[in-house]
Amino acid sequence: MSEENQSRLRRAWVETDLAALERNLGKIKAALPPRVRYISVVKADAYGHGVGPTVSRLLQCGADCFCVANTREGAEVRELGPGAGILVLGAVLPEERPLLFEYGLTAALSTEAETLALAKLAERRNQRLPVHIKIDTGMGRMGVWHENAADFIRYTLGCRSLELRGVFTHFSSADSAKPDDAAFTHTQRARFVRAIETIPHDLREAPDFLIHADNSAGLETFAADGPFNAVRVGLLQYGLPPRPDSLLARLQTEPVLSFHSRVGLVKTLPVGTRAGRVCRRR
Ligand SMILES: *Cc1c(COP(=O)(O)O)cnc(C)c1O
Repeated sequence: MSEENQSRLRRAWVETDLAALERNLGKIKAALPPRVRYISVVKADAYGHGVGPTVSRLLQCGADCFCVANTREGAEVRELGPGAGILVLGAVLPEERPLLFEYGLTAALSTEAETLALAKLAERRNQRLPVHIKIDTGMGRMGVWHENAADFIRYTLGCRSLELRGVFTHFSSADSAKPDDAAFTHTQRARFVRAIETIPHDLREAPDFLIHADNSAGLETFAADGPFNAVRVGLLQYGLPPRPDSLLARLQTEPVLSFHSRVGLVKTLPVGTRAGRVCRRR
């Protein structure tokens, strides 16, 4: 079918409002303290918004740091943004490791075995690989368990072919308003702050060293006494409302995605008529 006919016959579609995305980004950035870096989360095809147009627009309006779920997504983002920082949040499978180098991606490290394998590969390629350390403060998924973080940090710093550029954790219950969950987020934060104490001060305080934990539902990171200097924002930039007591609660971002359909028929029916299947009462 010709393209013209295809578009003429379109009955239902999704629109992404990139101008709204741009306004959302501007609003969120303006609400962050100047020392807090914005990391844009564009995993899963930019939450279904289409990674190509989304990342292109975000780059145009000044986003320079992205999170993706895996190396394949990372490669896609790299092709759109040659200079951007791209952190791969999920596990990197052994056969995917070369892609980190080929596409200039940043790996999130969880284990010594993985760290060693990447360090060896970097040496063989005569390249330095940027990495972040992920610390598991209670989520129970990716990351080194917080009580083992000190050894792991030391181990990673000993790998000269790896360049440690950041450290992060993920709060498991940040989007829940239940008091127990809020208390757990607090516990996770405390565990994280303790775990990163072994990172040398000159590294930790370097302006481009990223220390991050909060997502859109963030509650914890901008306390002036905290070590955090970045947030990872997904839902909020796409216009999903923040939880009412979050740090960014006062922000109203606009929905970027909308569904549309053509109206096929309008008619008047007697009051009480059911549209569609009639459910008879027994
Ligand atoms: C998806 C994800 C985010 C973004 O969370 P939102 O609630 O969409 O802001 C942040 N960090 C990690 C590790 C994630 O997987």
